[in-house]
Amino acid sequence: MKTFDLIIIGGGAGAFAAAIRANELKAKTAMINASLPLGGTCVNVGCVPSKRLLWAGEIMHMARNHNIPGIDLNIKSFDFKKLIQDELNLVSRMRKEKYEKVLRGLELVTFFDGYARFASENEVTVNGDNLYAERIIIATGSTAKVPPVEGLEEVGYATHIEALKVKQLPKTLIIIGAGPVGIEFAQMFSRFGTKVIIVKRSPGILRFAEKDLTDRLEQMLEIEGIDIITAEAIRLATKKNGKKVLIISSEGKEITVKGNEILLAAGKTPNTKDLGLDIAGVEVDEKGAVAVNEILQTSKPDIFAVGDVTNQPARFEPTAGREGTLAANNALTESKDRIDYDVVPFTIFTDPQLASVGLTEAEQMKRMGTCNCRTVSFENVPKAIIMNRTEGLIKMAIHPSTEEIMGVHILAPNAGELIAEAMMLVKNKNTVDEVISSLPMFPTLAESLKIVALSFKKDIASLSCCV
Ligand SMILES: Cc1cc2nc3c(=O)[nH]c(=O)nc-3n(C[C@H](O)[C@H](O)[C@H](O)COP(=O)(O)OP(=O)(O)OC[C@H]3O[C@@H](n4cnc5c(N)ncnc54)[C@H](O)[C@@H]3O)c2cc1C
Repeated sequence: MKTFDLIIIGGGAGAFAAAIRANELKAKTAMINASLPLGGTCVNVGCVPSKRLLWAGEIMHMARNHNIPGIDLNIKSFDFKKLIQDELNLVSRMRKEKYEKVLRGLELVTFFDGYARFASENEVTVNGDNLYAERIIIATGSTAKVPPVEGLEEVGYATHIEALKVKQLPKTLIIIGAGPVGIEFAQMFSRFGTKVIIVKRSPGILRFAEKDLTDRLEQMLEIEGIDIITAEAIRLATKKNGKKVLIISSEGKEITVKGNEILLAAGKTPNTKDLGLDIAGVEVDEKGAVAVNEILQTSKPDIFAVGDVTNQPARFEPTAGREGTLAANNALTESKDRIDYDVVPFTIFTDPQLASVGLTEAEQMKRMGTCNCRTVSFENVPKAIIMNRTEGLIKMAIHPSTEEIMGVHILAPNAGELIAEAMMLVKNKNTVDEVISSLPMFPTLAESLKIVALSFKKDIASLSCCV
């Protein structure tokens, strides 16, 4: 039996942040990872490779659609294999720099390359070894969900993992799901020249996001040539003439959707199945996610959980990382640190990007029974007019009496960067008047925040640029 102060199960964003904090606190720590390479989802098969390919698609699209008269950026060739190889090289470089090298620098952390399973509340087995610790952090992440569709296993499918290293572009791609992964991969493959058909269950796309903006984004994706079909049910997956076929029910009719490949983007399943959580007495919710309280403790107070494996609301790299840091702190000290998920932003890295922080209109209605919201088109933002990029929208929700900013939602180029300022406004409970009296540089897309704030007080159509 090997004894540690802390055992961390997993090797992704959550686990690494926990290991770094544990090392700072001088705790003798074991970190165990298997399945995905060190670094987990984000660097290997998630954020990093997908954003590289999305950026490549954006450059190609921009070259063809910049709308600046007099400039012809004729793309002479497009080598998809080279693009994928470049993306894989980037992944390997970042994994070495940001994970392997970092791990070597954590002098009190011992790494185990193997699959971990609980043997008791304080014991974990890995590669036949028994490890013991008073405190344990579960950071095992999640895996693409396989929807229960008859014939799907036989027909075969790709997940984001295979799609990010595909050697040849599929001519036609069916994507099941219209969440972040489905929408980002749809635009990425479409811009590379694949015909993309999204098959989704609920009305609209990105159903957790602000509806005015997702409706607009959906329209734009359709204009780019992506077919989006709402299916009450996917009845059957089968093969015909070498193609993969889905038989779906849509608006009461039976429809056949054909493609060369099927990509699953119907959500993620927490990696809890083979962990032996029942042996440790750790409870999971109805989706199999580890249930945690505000300080990231599971039903067993000495076992914590962080990142995609938990039932917490935001499932992104920064939240996994922050939860890892806080869980290590809470596990090893007297701290009771927690995250305010209301001020955690997210970004969908389409072009334009959709970024959001705080309450949507629907959430404000639900919580407060009323909503004080304004939506402004980027046609009112001088920088967007200069760039010929007026397609976006910005929406702000404020407190009906105090006028504090409670939510900001942006569909625009670089919205992921703009939302950082909005995050601070929501976090610091700034008011509309404070934003109106601020002086953002002219002309910038960041001015949109002041313009939407102004729209609560004035008719912005009648203002000159410099107000
Ligand atoms: C395609 C895609 C794109 C994304 N893009 C973004 C983005 O742009 N921005 C963003 O913020 N987020 C993005 N995300 C989400 C982000 O990647 C995750 O939220 C984050 O990586 C979760 O980190 P984690 O530490 O919880 O889990 P992971 O990074 O998945 O790490 C878990 C690790 O534990 C290992 N493991 C599992 N079970 C065991 C076991 N029993 N024993 C040992 N090891 C085990 C796994 O193999 C893995 O290595 C994306 C996700 C996907 C799929």
